[in-house]
Amino acid sequence: MKIIAAIKDMRSVVRDLRSQGKTIGLVPTMGCLHEGHLSLIRESVKKADSTVVSIFINPTQFGPAEDFKEYPREMRQDIGILEKEGVDYLFAPEAEEMYPEGYKTYVEVSDFQDRLCGRSRPGHFRGVCTVVLKLFNIVDPDISFFGQKDAQQAIVLEKMVQDLDLEVKIEVLPIIREEDGLALSSRNTYLSPEERKAALVLSKSLNAAQGMIEKGERDSESLIRRMKEILNGEPLAKIDYIEIVDIDNLNPLTKIENKTLIALAVFIKKVRLIDNVIIHIKE
Ligand code: AMP
Repeated sequence: MKIIAAIKDMRSVVRDLRSQGKTIGLVPTMGCLHEGHLSLIRESVKKADSTVVSIFINPTQFGPAEDFKEYPREMRQDIGILEKEGVDYLFAPEAEEMYPEGYKTYVEVSDFQDRLCGRSRPGHFRGVCTVVLKLFNIVDPDISFFGQKDAQQAIVLEKMVQDLDLEVKIEVLPIIREEDGLALSSRNTYLSPEERKAALVLSKSLNAAQGMIEKGERDSESLIRRMKEILNGEPLAKIDYIEIVDIDNLNPLTKIENKTLIALAVFIKKVRLIDNVIIHIKE
């Protein structure tokens, strides 16, 4: 695997690949790789001729009071993992390479970016869209892979691709979970054993909602009420939001219908975790 830090070197590799007629898959990550990332990487290795994984802890998507400084950095271990997976290129630029002094340009997906996680993390999706568009411009991928774990991120990025007439295809892959239901996340490394146990309330509350829907419940308010009960029953948990929305535009839904997204963010002590489920109703 070739490790690349400079944008101009990445571009020259891309030019070579293109001249050989090869397709390019891109998997953007912030590193500290786990099985969730690996599911995306494996799909890219399978589908594209060449796979580029980026590891970049993007400062513009963190708020001033957020965990940019503490975010886990495991570059050496990540490189070993990527080599084993048959990744062709690791693009790992420094922050100054992506945002040199005097940097001014940002991308916003208005409205979509202000909902759900955007409400508690103002500026987050502006940072995400900006860095992902930069990565798309640098790597010029045919396909880019994202996880359903960050459901709103995938929806916002799909909108950006549509609105800005980008040619890249976005593929969204299912949430990878621990055996007990906890969605894998680099931020799980922050959890103490006690908090790790408490964090199961996220998936438990989503499972309960799904169970109710399977039995015929369609009223969003009743579902949210039950989820709140479960989450509030865990003393270490504090709800940031629970939302039931249309997966196409993130508009709130009072009644469950096909392609509904139930998404939540919950603090376990100081650690903010997210999880979600997409409801498909066969009627
Ligand atoms: P991150 O490194 O957290 O920015 O994540 C990089 C990519 O991996 C994003 O597209 C995430 O949605 C995806 N991802 C993170 N956790 C999971 C998971 N548990 N299952 C599937 N995809 C995930």
